[in-house]
Amino acid sequence: MQRPMRRRNTATAAAPCAPGRYARPMGEFDLIQRFFKRPANGAVALGVGDDCALLQPAPGQQLAVSSDMLVEGRHFLSTVDPHKLGHKALAVNLSDLAACGAKPLAFTLALALPRADDAWLAPFSQGLLALADEHGCVLAGGDTTQGPLNICITVLGEVPPTQALLRHRAQPGDDIYVSGQVGDARLALEVFRGGQSLSADAFQAVRARMEQPTPRVALGQALRGVAHAAIDVSDGLLGDLRHILGASNCGATVDTVFVFSSDATSDTLKRLPPEQALDCALSGGDDYELLFTAPPSARSAVQQAARDSATPVTRIGQIDAEPGLRLRDAAGRPLHRRFGGFDHFA
Ligand code: ADP
Ligand code: MG
Repeated sequence: MQRPMRRRNTATAAAPCAPGRYARPMGEFDLIQRFFKRPANGAVALGVGDDCALLQPAPGQQLAVSSDMLVEGRHFLSTVDPHKLGHKALAVNLSDLAACGAKPLAFTLALALPRADDAWLAPFSQGLLALADEHGCVLAGGDTTQGPLNICITVLGEVPPTQALLRHRAQPGDDIYVSGQVGDARLALEVFRGGQSLSADAFQAVRARMEQPTPRVALGQALRGVAHAAIDVSDGLLGDLRHILGASNCGATVDTVFVFSSDATSDTLKRLPPEQALDCALSGGDDYELLFTAPPSARSAVQQAARDSATPVTRIGQIDAEPGLRLRDAAGRPLHRRFGGFDHFA
């Protein structure tokens, strides 16, 4: 990044150095070299070290690109374990590739740090790169600057032309599915805020869902040619479903009984008072599950995709021609309640 000459490197070079085997203050380029330089690999023909990285997607594939920024105090608590934060920063980005059915190739990391702190950078980079390696997603470049902690990742993936899963392709009559489990991340946040208490074991489990979400990358690719529309649940299930409905110009009916009697919620969540369980599952957010639609004729193909990717999926409703979002209770009666999704500026 270009900066005024006299100020180049002053912030990071002057930063205090954490204890450890690194005796002298760590500058910007030392820091990149130590924690973020990765060998070129796979689609990355040239990685960290030059003005640009060079990528070579497979012939004929489209590139899928997405960015997500994590800001301290807004997306994560200042006390979070840096290893988990590294994982989550990449996981939320991989989740966007998953929602499009794309295969991860590479990512860039733009990082603002208050100081060059070895004791923070080592676990952060380990958490980040372990998940990257798991998905064959190579760190290809980025930017590093001094400032309030802020992590911006851009991921690149590939998908065959016309096979990307998109929000606007839901059709009346489609089934609606959600992967994995929803609501636990929100429940963990409630515990952190002091509004809820759980046993130590239950808290550990929901906390892991909040701090270390699992991007459904294999499921997303397995749903190519099967699902009509998809989105990942970052802002709350119903809020994200509304994005599909708006883009596809249709409505939906959701059977909320799934919250109490399916594998799409945890036993911990099912033990909450029903109203609270509904709130967490339907408008909680931070779940990073896939919400998708597929025609009833594809039910066995959906189950096959779930098996192939070892990811459970649950059918929770259907797409209607009539606009609007309707909820039904366990007896199939209309359930009149407002559930929001998260909006940073609302
Ligand atoms: P430039 O000034 O040409 O934009 P920089 O000095 O910012 O380049 O970065 C030097 C090299 O290190 C580039 O290849 C850049 O992509 C890479 N880089 C910088 N910060 C990071 C980071 N946080 N993670 C990975 N690569 C990084
Ligand atoms: Mg340059």
